[in-house]
Amino acid sequence: MKKLRKARVERKQCIRCGKSLSHETLVRGVKQCEKCLDYQHRRKLGQIHSKVNTTYFYNRQYKKDDIKRKKLGEYMVKHRITIKDLAHHSHLSQRTIQRILYTESNYSKKTKESINNYLGKELL
Ligand SMILES: [Zn+2]
Repeated sequence: MKKLRKARVERKQCIRCGKSLSHETLVRGVKQCEKCLDYQHRRKLGQIHSKVNTTYFYNRQYKKDDIKRKKLGEYMVKHRITIKDLAHHSHLSQRTIQRILYTESNYSKKTKESINNYLGKELL
């Protein structure tokens, strides 16, 4: 799956459907066509309920991760740990911590371990 996505990015195609991306889309740095972006946006808003099993699987993974992100955020607030503190003590960049907290992007096992090690808890 990752390979296919990479190949599509290189060929300047939408990572979801493989359609060639328009010039405007490429300039914006978006990796999906307008149609797929719109679909994803509407699905997030709950206007579309996907029945495809593979999508269900991905949704489930995201949800599990989101709970962890939320827990980490709450823990940091409760214990007054700033992003700067956490980045410093876990030897990660502040940008990495921000990405984990505020976006859906993936993080590595190493990142996860660094954070958990510092907190002394299996939060992430
Ligand atoms: Zn597409």
